Amino acid sequence: MSLVIVGEILKLTVFAGLALAGMLVILIWKKNLTTKISYLRLWVQVASVVGIFYIFASLNWLLYLLLAVFVMSLFLGRFFCGWICPFGLYMDLVTQLRKVLKIRYRKLPDRLNRSLNKLRYGIIVFFLIAPFIFSSTSNWLLPSALSLAGPFRPILVLLSPLEPLIIPWKSLIVLQGINISYPYASDLTFYLTENLALIAISVFVGLTLVASLFVRRFWCRFCPTGISLAIINRFKVFKWFPPFHLYKEEEKCTKCGICERVCPPQVTEVYEQKGGKITTSMCLMCLRCVEMCPYEGCLKVKVAGKTVIESRNWLEPAKTD
Ligand code: SF4
Ligand code: SF4
Ligand code: SF4
Repeated sequence: MSLVIVGEILKLTVFAGLALAGMLVILIWKKNLTTKISYLRLWVQVASVVGIFYIFASLNWLLYLLLAVFVMSLFLGRFFCGWICPFGLYMDLVTQLRKVLKIRYRKLPDRLNRSLNKLRYGIIVFFLIAPFIFSSTSNWLLPSALSLAGPFRPILVLLSPLEPLIIPWKSLIVLQGINISYPYASDLTFYLTENLALIAISVFVGLTLVASLFVRRFWCRFCPTGISLAIINRFKVFKWFPPFHLYKEEEKCTKCGICERVCPPQVTEVYEQKGGKITTSMCLMCLRCVEMCPYEGCLKVKVAGKTVIESRNWLEPAKTD
């Protein structure tokens, strides 16, 4: 099959996915089918992965893609993490597999989860600053670390969660002429020798997939890209800015705790906060809490102050006209 035909199929898939997502958006908005948000998210995620694969095929656009992700975060918070990121989709699919295999998910203890949240700043410093530091130090300090340096390496690290499972450049694993990859695989190949990279990639793939069977969005707790996007929303000047945000009506909350239980990164603020705008940088804007909150209008998604979606009382059968 020629590349042109493959490209056309990819484009059609993206358009079909987005068209379906568009129809669901209208239905959710007009008919308040809030309990269908997961379907909408899945469509958007699949269409986005196909679109990103297409962008990766023409490497020239990668920097613009990363820029677009960061600019989007200014307006939509971590919408990218909840709805677009390919690695996020892979982990969500593993979570679905968990349901089929009837494996119970584990909640990390809140204290550990909070500590991991703090640790993420150390991780981001390592991933983004270390290459520059190591590149200017003498060889005796950490010779192998010199390989961390390289033009735009931090940028590629930030792009890693977007890395498709099939890539256009040479990879360590080639099946039938197709270059197989995985998020961060290209980076590990860059930093390590071939054999070490193969071991490191196998461990990373195994660890993230197995861990995702038990802990939802496992890697999102460590991911440098997610952390960078979270940092944008942590700055006071940006914190109150995103016109797309969650809102809680305090008087409608019965403290049932469902929002806390269903939240993939275990955000506790929606449950704990008395009411008003939810501004935590841990929130992926996946809207699972809005979908599952069983009290009408308790949780809302607002865009520029206007409610576009709100939780509905799904405990009672929907009223018919
Ligand atoms: S935190 Fe990282 S891996 Fe998780 S969804 Fe965001 S960018 Fe993707
Ligand atoms: S699910 Fe809704 S009602 Fe229950 S604790 Fe969360 S916000 Fe309150
Ligand atoms: S708080 Fe709600 S929207 Fe944010 S990550 Fe948790 S479930 Fe998703």
